[in-house]
Amino acid sequence: MATADLGYLPRKNPCAQCGQPIPAPDWIENSARRISYLWHCKACDYRFEAVAFFDASHPDREALAA
Ligand SMILES: [Zn+2]
Repeated sequence: MATADLGYLPRKNPCAQCGQPIPAPDWIENSARRISYLWHCKACDYRFEAVAFFDASHPDREALAA
């Protein structure tokens, strides 16, 4: 199992609207080739999503599909 991808957790992401740092994402959604982070700014109640895409190199998954 490759855990390097999941080890990356963004913190203190500045709010896309007011710029306040948000300590941690409200919600994290993992899918095959990307992770979606849902941020919720408590200062201005703004919600936004940031998506991290993986590199195409996932030999584990290709082996499962074969
Ligand atoms: Zn904000």
